[in-house]
Amino acid sequence: MLIDDIAEVLITAEEIQKRVAELGRQISADYEGRDLLLIAVLKGGVLFLSDLMRHITVPHAIDFMAISSYGLSTETTGVVRILKDLDEPIDGRHVLIVEDIVDTGRTMDYLLRILQARHPASLRVCTLLNKPGRREIEVPLDYVGFDIPNRFVFGYGLDLREIFRNQTFIAALKPEAQHALSETAQEVSE
Ligand code: 5GP
Repeated sequence: MLIDDIAEVLITAEEIQKRVAELGRQISADYEGRDLLLIAVLKGGVLFLSDLMRHITVPHAIDFMAISSYGLSTETTGVVRILKDLDEPIDGRHVLIVEDIVDTGRTMDYLLRILQARHPASLRVCTLLNKPGRREIEVPLDYVGFDIPNRFVFGYGLDLREIFRNQTFIAALKPEAQHALSETAQEVSE
């Protein structure tokens, strides 16, 4: 599968790196003197976390959570499930969730509710990508890298059927490819 045939570049590697550095500077200023814990959501948030933390100058720890996402289809199912929980408790800590993308908002809404119940000192969200046009549940987003249109994207941590996570840019699936992939996913699940 050639990327050029199915997708086009939406955000270049240079644009991503510039924006991630800006976010890192902003987060460093906001969390000065606080006990910061970054929680990345596996697997999509991994590249973003590793670049972002290099631009955060205040001391911080990291932890990971894995929750269920789309599976084979490119459309959300609304089903959210914890696959891997945090290693450490978060009560009294200043927690910043580092997420790859907020789409319908269902996943983030769920995450915020379960983490809030663990009594962190504060709980904020940093997402690289935001699809405001797809929102079904309003979620507070404290740091946003880029607002993007309602298209399926991949690269820079985000997958297209578990591949292309290593790309340094964000690509958007061409509409005809998106249609073909959704149909295949439907056939597989039926
Ligand atoms: P939501 O619950 O907000 O609808 O979706 C959140 C999750 O769905 C994200 O963490 C991500 O795993 C997945 N997702 C949403 N939109 C896209 C997209 O355009 N591309 C990819 N690869 N995953 C997406």
